[in-house]
Amino acid sequence: MKELPFSSKSEILQYANSYNTPFYVYDQETVEAQCKELKQSFSWANEFQNYFAVKATPNPYILNIIKEQGFGVDCSSYAELLLAEATGFTKEEIFFTSNNTTLEEYQKAIQLGAIINFDDKSHLQLVKENIGLPEHVCFRYNPGSLRNGNDILGNPSSAKFGLTREQLFQGYAEAKSLGCTKFSLHTMIISNSLDEHELFQTAEMMFELVKELKTKLDISIRQVNLGGGIGIPYKPTDKPVSTISLGTKIQKLYENMMLSQNDFLPFKLCFECGRFITGPAGILITRIINKKTTHKNYLGVDASIANLLRPAMYGSYHHCSHITDTDCAPSAAKKKLSLRKLSVEESELKLNGSFYDVVGSLCENNDKLATDRHVGENVEIGDLLIFHDTGAHCSAMGFNYNGKLRCAEYIRKPCGELKLIKRAETYADLFSTLVWSRKLD
Ligand SMILES: *Cc1c(COP(=O)(O)O)cnc(C)c1O
Repeated sequence: MKELPFSSKSEILQYANSYNTPFYVYDQETVEAQCKELKQSFSWANEFQNYFAVKATPNPYILNIIKEQGFGVDCSSYAELLLAEATGFTKEEIFFTSNNTTLEEYQKAIQLGAIINFDDKSHLQLVKENIGLPEHVCFRYNPGSLRNGNDILGNPSSAKFGLTREQLFQGYAEAKSLGCTKFSLHTMIISNSLDEHELFQTAEMMFELVKELKTKLDISIRQVNLGGGIGIPYKPTDKPVSTISLGTKIQKLYENMMLSQNDFLPFKLCFECGRFITGPAGILITRIINKKTTHKNYLGVDASIANLLRPAMYGSYHHCSHITDTDCAPSAAKKKLSLRKLSVEESELKLNGSFYDVVGSLCENNDKLATDRHVGENVEIGDLLIFHDTGAHCSAMGFNYNGKLRCAEYIRKPCGELKLIKRAETYADLFSTLVWSRKLD
């Protein structure tokens, strides 16, 4: 079992009675607590920064909560730069980690004074000739076969991101010869990792590179960005990463590898975690609208993978809690009592009969938010299903296939009240881009 995060059943029932399902709720206090935990874990560093990956939860209200915690933003597209600008992030509070980048995007990022993280060495020339190089540049390293990747990001050898080791050294040498004076180093090779050692190894690999860049090219790295990728416990059996323990291990490494060096200049340690900050802070509230049994048991909800793509995209698990109207009424207690009286056999039978695929209404068979899931006892049409840990990379991946409308998003303020931070799409929004003139008779 996984407890409902940050709110009670009765509170969620109240939300669902006040607003049309489906909708997302993000909890402000959870976002703040996650920021604080990360800051605390690296408070030993000379300087620390997390550039929140905007793509995880691209909403200015949320970005502002994160800004208040002293964090910056990691943008990977023109739209994300616009959001960062609108929220009030400036200059080196913005880290621009893009790929397959257009000149238009570079122009905007440079205009904002963002740190440009090059994903392609040849883009140094491109930017120099068309815009002018900024004095501070960063490169994204892809270690290829030197490291293993994971399911979401793939193996580094076949990942489209970054520069090879050889290109990396050439890139810095070239940037230096072109007049750049400040240098940073970046990598992002694992995603959603709960393996502390794997995360630690990234730091080790990067500190090693910092040393090599110093000895081979006499380049002092100002910022080491370890990327995102700190995972969260989606499954009830997942063990969360202790960022405090990870921080302590990286601190020791830093002291051993760096501080003991004579010509070493302290650098700013950075992450660009999105999921860790907002993932646990979000829930998707859906209602069961249909139920059927054919070769399997199905629960049809009013959300679909157009609202929550991750299960279909990566086979991701999002825990699902079942809430019924009677959960908070006096009759619920009675119901539970009578359940307890069932014989073992009977209750086992009941359990076997209550595994469901939770589906949306898209004409795609992978439109499943959960498969073979035991969501609870006595699941009925009209009940709520709450999908956990949907604060990052969920609503943001929403799409309009089959004319599905993206749902509303609310922030849960510390007083427990909900405030709308993104309204639901309307059919007028959906059709607003069609170029079509109806023939009038
Ligand atoms: C997606 C992404 C992140 C954020 O990843 P999380 O899993 O949310 O921490 C950070 N950096 C880059 C380059 C990314 O593409």
